[in-house]
Amino acid sequence: MKFLSFVKNLFGFKRNSKYVKNYLNDANIKSSIYMAFIVVLLEIWMIIRQTNKYIRPYWNNASALGYNSNVQLIFGMISLYCLFIVCSVAMFMFALFYVTKKRGRKSFITNLVLGTICVLWVLILIPEVHLVNYTGGTLVNKGTTILVYTSMPIFGASIVGNSFYRHFKKKDNTILSIITITCFAAVCLFFGIKVGYSDFANPWVKNGAVNTQKIKMITCFLTMVIFVACLLIWKPYISIIILTTVFVLFDYFLCQYGADKREFIEADRINYYTFLISLTMITISIYSQRVQEAYKDEKLIHDAEYDQRYDIHNGNYFVNQILKLEAEHPTALEDKMYLFINMRNFKTINDQKGFEYGDFFLKRLAKDVIAAFPKDLSARLGDDHFVILTDASGFKDKIDILNRLVTFSADGLFVLLKVGGYKLKYGENPGRAIDKARYACGMIKNKYEQLYCEYDDNMNDKFNKRQYIVNNIDEAIEKGYIRAYYQPVVWSENGSLCGAEALARWVDPVYGFLSPRDFIPVLEEARLIYKLDTYMIEYICKEMRRAIDEAKTVVPVSINFSRLDFELMNVKETIDSMVEKYNIDKHYIHVEVTESALADDEVFHNLIHELKDDGYDIWLDDFGSGYSSLNSLKDFSFDVVKVDMKFLTNFDKNERTKEILDCVIHLANRLGMKTLTEGVETIDEAKFLNDIGCGRLQGYLFGKPRELKDFEEDIENGTFKVSEKLI
Ligand code: C2E
Ligand code: MG
Ligand code: MG
Repeated sequence: MKFLSFVKNLFGFKRNSKYVKNYLNDANIKSSIYMAFIVVLLEIWMIIRQTNKYIRPYWNNASALGYNSNVQLIFGMISLYCLFIVCSVAMFMFALFYVTKKRGRKSFITNLVLGTICVLWVLILIPEVHLVNYTGGTLVNKGTTILVYTSMPIFGASIVGNSFYRHFKKKDNTILSIITITCFAAVCLFFGIKVGYSDFANPWVKNGAVNTQKIKMITCFLTMVIFVACLLIWKPYISIIILTTVFVLFDYFLCQYGADKREFIEADRINYYTFLISLTMITISIYSQRVQEAYKDEKLIHDAEYDQRYDIHNGNYFVNQILKLEAEHPTALEDKMYLFINMRNFKTINDQKGFEYGDFFLKRLAKDVIAAFPKDLSARLGDDHFVILTDASGFKDKIDILNRLVTFSADGLFVLLKVGGYKLKYGENPGRAIDKARYACGMIKNKYEQLYCEYDDNMNDKFNKRQYIVNNIDEAIEKGYIRAYYQPVVWSENGSLCGAEALARWVDPVYGFLSPRDFIPVLEEARLIYKLDTYMIEYICKEMRRAIDEAKTVVPVSINFSRLDFELMNVKETIDSMVEKYNIDKHYIHVEVTESALADDEVFHNLIHELKDDGYDIWLDDFGSGYSSLNSLKDFSFDVVKVDMKFLTNFDKNERTKEILDCVIHLANRLGMKTLTEGVETIDEAKFLNDIGCGRLQGYLFGKPRELKDFEEDIENGTFKVSEKLI
C-alpha cells in the first residue's frame, strides 16, 4: 500500500490542495517570465538574420523568392517572428503583473492591447498573407504552422480574458492562467519542432553538395522542450505524456525525411532518447521538490493560523479570511455580525481549579463555540476571548445555545458568559470592527444578568477615545504629552510634608486633558501599561536628580505600578537601572501596588519580595476597595497600607464609617504596618485619622496633584513645611 501511494505521489496522481495548485501555478508564471524573455531575444535575432539573408538581397526583386510584392516578402519572411515577439511580450507583461500583483488601469490596458494584437494578427493578417502562401512544404511544416496559429489566438484570448477578470473581479483566475501558460508552451513547442525540423531537413549545402558532417540544428527544439518540461511544472504523468509524444513524433518526422539528404542514424537516436529519459527524471524530481516546498509552506501557514492547543483557528486566520471574503465577494459581508465572546470569571476558575483545568475548560469552550456556530467563521483571539462572524439574523438564538452549552460544560462551576456584538459597516476594517464588538462586550462585564450587548453609535465617542489612547501612547510618551504630577503626603500629627505620590497626566493636542481614569484602564486592557510605567519611572528619577543637583528639597516619591507590569516587564530591573542611572537613593522610591493585584499569585508575590529585599518600600494602594483585602494583609508585610478613600464617604453622616476606619487602622498597625489614608478633604477627617493612629494623610486638604516646579515653589514659599523625618 505504501509503495502504491509512493508511486501515486511520484507520478502526480495524488490530488493536490488548492494551496499547492496555486503554488505550482505561481511558479509556472514566474518561469514564463524567463522563457518569454528568451523567446523575445531569439526572435529579434531571427528577424535580423532573415532581413540580412533574404529581405535585403531580394528587396528589388521579390518574385525571385516567389512573392508578388515587397510587402508580401516582408510578411512572408518575418511576420511569424514578429508575432512571436508580440506573443512573448504579452506573456512577459502578463506574468510580470501577475507576480507583482499589479491590478491598475495600466496593467489592464497593456494586457488587453497585447492580447488583442495576438488574436487579430493571427485572425486577420496571417491567413491573408501568410497561410495561403506559406503553409506549403512538408506535412510537418503545414501541421506545426496550423497548430501555432491555433494556439496563438487562444493564448491572446486568454490574456484578454485574464485582464478583464483581474481588473473587474480584482483577483486572479487560475484556470485562465493555466490556459495562457499552456498555449504559450504549445506555441513555443510547435515553434521548436518547426525550426528544428526545417533545420534538419534543409542541411548545410555548400557548392551544391550536402555537408552531412554539420551538426544537426535541433537545439531550438531541445530548448523549447526543456522549457515545457523543466521550467513549467505539470504533474509528472502529464510531462511524461507530452515529452514522449513529442519525442516519438519528432523522431518519426526526422525518419520521414531521411535517405538522400540526411539520416537520423542510430547513434543520434541513442543520444536523443537518453536526453528524453534524463528530461523525464528531471521533471519528476522538480515536481516532487516543488510539491514538498508547497506542503511545507502550507503547513507553516496552517500553523500560523491554527491554534493546535485549543483546536480552533486563531485571530490571524479570522482577519485573513475576512479580508479575502471582502476582496472576493464584497457583498458577502452584508448583514453580518461580529460577536466577541469573553468568559467573565475565567480567572477565578483558573485560580480555584488550577491551570490544567483552566486549559481543559478553554478547549471545551472552543468546542462549544464551534458547536453553537457550526457554519460561521470563528476563532480564539487569546485568553478566554473568541470572535465569530455570523448572520445578523438569528444569532441571538445561537448565543443562547452557546450559553447553555457552556453552562453544561462548566459542570457545576459558576460561569459568566459575556457577548458583545457589532454589525459591520461596508468597507470597515475588520480589526476595528472586532474591537467594537470587544468594546460592547466590556460594557456589560459587571452586569451580572446581561448576556449580550450590541455596539451602538452612542458608544462611538468613548470607543474612538479608547482607540486613540491605544494608538497614540507611543507618540504621547515620545513627545512628552504625559507628565508626572505630584500630590503631597503629610504626617498626620503635624501636617508636615513627608513625601509625594506621582500621578500620570496626559495633556493631549486633540483630546486636551486626560485623567488616569481615562487612559490607565485602557492601557491595561491593551497590555500597554508597562510603556507608561517605564516612562514614569525614568521621568520621576530624572526630575528628582535635577532637583537634587539644583539643591532643592527632595521628598520620597511613591510610584504606581499595575499588576500587569509584573507580567509585561521586569519591574525590579527597570527601577534598578533608573535609580542607578540617575544616582537616586532607593529609600526615596516607594512602589505602590493595588490590592486587587495581589490575588493568590505566587510569581507576583516573589517579585514583590525581591523588590522589598532590595531596599524599596512597598506600599499597598487602595486597601479595602477590592474583594480580598484582608487576605492580602495575611500573606505579605507591606511598609505602608494606603486606606482607600471610599472609607471617607459619608464621614460626617454615618457613624459606622468612623468605626470601620478605626478598625482598619488598628488592624494594620497591629500587623506592624504603617498607615496612610487617601482622599482627606476636611480638617475633621484629618483630626479623626490622627486620633485613631493613622500615620500619614493624603488628600485635597493638603494639596492637589501638581507639576514638580509648582510643588517646589510651594516648598520654597512655605505652603508645604517639609518634615525632618522623611522615611
Ligand atoms: P491612586 O493611586 O489611588 O491615586 C489617588 C487618586 O485619588 C488620584 O487620582 C488623586 O488625584 C485622587 N485624589 C487624591 N486626593 C483626593 C481627594 O482629596 N479627593 C478626591 N476626590 N480625590 C483625590 P488620579 O490621579 O486620577 O489617579 C487615579 C488612579 O490612576 C490612581 O489611583 C492610580 O491607581 C492610577 N494611576 C495614576 N497614575 C498612574 C501611573 O503612573 N501608573 C499607574 N499604573 N497607575 C496610575
Ligand atoms: Mg496610588
Ligand atoms: Mg489609591
